[in-house]
Amino acid sequence: MTDKKNVPSDALNGVQNVVLDLDGTLYDKTGLARRMMRRLWWCLPLLAAERLARKNMHYVQYASEEEFFGAFFRYMSRGHWWGVGVAATWYHTVYMPTMIRLIRRYHHPRPEMMALIEEAKAKGLTLAIYSDYGCVVEKLEALGIDPSQFELMISAPELGALKPSEPCARHVLELLQAKPETTLFVGDRDDKDGASARSVGAKFLLI
Ligand SMILES: [Mg+2]
Repeated sequence: MTDKKNVPSDALNGVQNVVLDLDGTLYDKTGLARRMMRRLWWCLPLLAAERLARKNMHYVQYASEEEFFGAFFRYMSRGHWWGVGVAATWYHTVYMPTMIRLIRRYHHPRPEMMALIEEAKAKGLTLAIYSDYGCVVEKLEALGIDPSQFELMISAPELGALKPSEPCARHVLELLQAKPETTLFVGDRDDKDGASARSVGAKFLLI
């Protein structure tokens, strides 16, 4: 049974599917934003533009990942000297790889979450990762977590939006062939992960 802080021992009662957020949930991300700023001091305006785009695009739904990122990079470039191509290249070749490197070096899985995953596996439950960022497999590997134990690993942008998109959360349930009433979303943000769960009528555990 899970008995560590943050996770009640009956968290998995009546649950068939566990949908886990990644950043801040599987690991404590305290200090990550500060380290990102320190490493990426030479491109702070791009970092700020990425944050702003992320903050302001959470309510827009697109038909595909391609459309989502097209709009995302246009938003990041609005009013700046750089264009969409620079924003996209920076995001894929600097921003995400830097985040993964920092996670590998400084961050560790939360023991209570690893216990929850082990308990879910022992009970034969279906495990999924539903992230608000991409590079899910790379981040799991950076944390030393075996990706093969998850039935599904997906990010909201791959489904055309950011959390707490209701269509994206519904899509996750469909991919898992899961019923909301037996699905538990687990996350560190009530406004993102909790709202995702509520939008489809699933249970939610806040970490
Ligand atoms: Mg999170």
